[in-house]
Amino acid sequence: MHIGAPSRPLVEVGTQVKRGEKIAEAQGGISACLHSPVSGTVSAIEPHLTASGSRTDCIVIDSDGLNTPDPSLRPHPECEHDPDALIALVREAGITGMGGAGFPTAAKILSARGKADTVLFNGAECEPGIVSDFCSMLDNSPQLLHGMELLLMACGAEKGVLAIEENKSEAISLLSPLLPERITLRVLPTAYPQGGEKQLIYRSLGREVPSGGLPADVGCAVFNVETVIAVAEAVESGKPLIERYCTVTGTALQKPKLVKIAIGTPVEHILRSVDPLCEPRKVIAGGVMMGSSLFDLSVPAEKGTNGIFAMALDDTRFREQSVCIRCGRCAENCPMGLMPNYLYMFVKKNALDKLRAYHLNDCLDCGVCAYGCPARLPLNQSFRLGKAKLRADDAARRAREQAEKEAR
Ligand code: SF4
Ligand code: SF4
Repeated sequence: MHIGAPSRPLVEVGTQVKRGEKIAEAQGGISACLHSPVSGTVSAIEPHLTASGSRTDCIVIDSDGLNTPDPSLRPHPECEHDPDALIALVREAGITGMGGAGFPTAAKILSARGKADTVLFNGAECEPGIVSDFCSMLDNSPQLLHGMELLLMACGAEKGVLAIEENKSEAISLLSPLLPERITLRVLPTAYPQGGEKQLIYRSLGREVPSGGLPADVGCAVFNVETVIAVAEAVESGKPLIERYCTVTGTALQKPKLVKIAIGTPVEHILRSVDPLCEPRKVIAGGVMMGSSLFDLSVPAEKGTNGIFAMALDDTRFREQSVCIRCGRCAENCPMGLMPNYLYMFVKKNALDKLRAYHLNDCLDCGVCAYGCPARLPLNQSFRLGKAKLRADDAARRAREQAEKEAR
């Protein structure tokens, strides 16, 4: 549900829970609390597959179908003007970045406090076919406006910029007359990828985040618009992050739909609720460019699941890979100026020092290199593997250093 350490369950098998009740406690600065999206009974706490393909302990709740709310949820007017109280509430409400990265929002506010002069509100939603943020902006404009003010206050920033792609004209016409003076609207050309933090900061403000750096290093913080709305809802009603908008689309469905899902719902349940046309041949959680192919549809929808693509047989033709022909197209197209062909070779050779030297960790996982590769090489897929190897290597080095320190 988030990057960082897994949260610690507060319930056990047989516990009755209400909708919105906290069921797991954050463990550490970039962990997040979890809340039950339904009322019902905990039937298991066990390892379960997730969309990333890893097994993680999951709390399984059998819904009673009543959605009885947790009676302790209440508005938090004390957070309107108190940054510390707001950050504590955002953490308690389990709010994480809803654009897919899963970074806990309270930690992001803390990293920006005192450093950010500008807060960027990300309504760009550049992934093809996904309209979750767009519809959320249309449906929740009062909460969006409120949440933007709250986050400016919490970050201590002077001004805000709401960035929206030009193809979302309804959202632009709705929001532009409502924005307060210190928040400006930046209409961006429709392009992929530009919803990533670094691209968005560059396109909207002309500031370049250095390699390995954070938005705060150039005086910015970036929040996805659905995250902003979740912050406002937590203050207005005490509602934790338990549901979200999700675009369900693809040629295996009668017609695409935007649904509001209870976070944690198995993907197969979501697909059944939208009139499948045929048995999907391939299902992707997230967007077609940056999402993960699922091999088991019992995985739960997560806080960052903004889309589900169900594809029919015709869309999934397998094309043979060949060898790299050194055409250079991947390097020409990479929005981060990386050399994907070299990175691919270094992942295959397990050359971790080279992966660092060629800045693999700056890769956005946008998939543009693989999309245009005439050899059909699984470039960004291999980069996920490479990044996992770097993380494991870093963790092993830290453990070694700690052991040496303790031995001294
Ligand atoms: S686009 Fe594909 S074939 Fe061309 S250089 Fe890059 S990896 Fe090699
Ligand atoms: S996925 Fe490919 S194109 Fe996108 S940032 Fe990474 S290396 Fe560059």
